[in-house]
Amino acid sequence: MSSSTYIIVGQGFAGTALAWQLLNRGQSVQIYDDHHRDSSSVASAGIINPITGLRLNHSGEYIQLKSACDAFYHALEKKLKTKFYHPLNIVKYCTRPEEKQAWDKKQCAFKEAGLLTSTFKANPYDKHIANENAGFETVGASVNARTYLNASRAYFKNHAHLIEESFDYVKINSYRTETAKIIFCEGFKAQHNPWFKHLPFINAKGELLTIKINTDSFPQKMINAGIFVLPLGNNLYKVGATYEWDDLTPAPTETGKSELWTKLRDLLTVDFKIVEHAAGIRPIIKDQTPVLGAHPDNPDLLIFNGLASKGALYSPLLSTMVCDYVIEGKAIDEKYSVRRFSRTLTA
Ligand SMILES: Cc1cc2nc3c(=O)[nH]c(=O)nc-3n(C[C@H](O)[C@H](O)[C@H](O)COP(=O)(O)OP(=O)(O)OC[C@H]3O[C@@H](n4cnc5c(N)ncnc54)[C@H](O)[C@@H]3O)c2cc1C
Repeated sequence: MSSSTYIIVGQGFAGTALAWQLLNRGQSVQIYDDHHRDSSSVASAGIINPITGLRLNHSGEYIQLKSACDAFYHALEKKLKTKFYHPLNIVKYCTRPEEKQAWDKKQCAFKEAGLLTSTFKANPYDKHIANENAGFETVGASVNARTYLNASRAYFKNHAHLIEESFDYVKINSYRTETAKIIFCEGFKAQHNPWFKHLPFINAKGELLTIKINTDSFPQKMINAGIFVLPLGNNLYKVGATYEWDDLTPAPTETGKSELWTKLRDLLTVDFKIVEHAAGIRPIIKDQTPVLGAHPDNPDLLIFNGLASKGALYSPLLSTMVCDYVIEGKAIDEKYSVRRFSRTLTA
């Protein structure tokens, strides 16, 4: 067993889940976070979806990842006496040619795996949604990211685990002690981290709208048809998301807003009003796989990053792997290990 102090840099999905796992195992934790400045997690819709992407991908690891989410978020809701984790019915319209092809190919397998609660050939929500494609319904979950992060943050602050300032890489030696391990969870800002900036990040900006629909009969399920419309309660809905690889400035843009507004206007047959517009940058590694573990030349410096579009789903299970590694010395699954980039980091 280790008796280290763990310094976590960043309190997004990665740093928050890791801090809880370490605290749950009785470890000493200090978190540095610069007030969620440009945090992707704060902007995120927090959706956990079993079937994703243009090719309707379903990962064999989903069940394990989702079980870890259920256990982790439910236990935390109890501890913090705050509700932020909700089951979510997802209605998917197979709109694009790739989705239609994937649906034809994979629907039997999805049925056998018990992923579908229903399928449809005619639009089940034609009063509100203008889309005539066939599709299916599945069940996932959603994390209200702001509520989860803010409730965790309040706890960390009240228990003296949180230092609300920027971690200064130049002063690294003033944070280092014989027993300290520093775990960087800075999201896309890892591109400024002197030890990990050479990892092959291909980050993507995303923009979201929050809208109000003044119709009580609008479906309280997530509608996914080119864009998603996620019910938040009180007639509010999150709508997203854009993908942009060239402009990686964190602020929302008129272009992003106009793209979402146009798609929404074509999709909905009811009036809506935009009440918020947000943006964030997804931290994505070239092989689209998270990256965990210690720097090859500096074993006291570690990374937990690359959660891409799945921070809510990945963070509970993968933070356990980081914990098992730092506390018990258990090897990290090679698929996720930073060791796959050892040559890049030591070059
Ligand atoms: C528009 C959009 C929609 C998304 N929707 C979903 C979704 O529906 N479901 C889902 O699972 N994922 C979604 N994602 C992806 C998800 O947001 C990311 O996977 C996740 O936020 C990554 O978390 P993180 O903790 O690695 O990074 P971040 O959330 O960016 O957290 C990093 C934290 O570190 C802090 N920080 C950085 N550097 C320093 C420093 N030097 N000192 C102190 N603090 C520092 C930052 O302020 C920030 O608080 C979405 C992303 C976007 C942009």
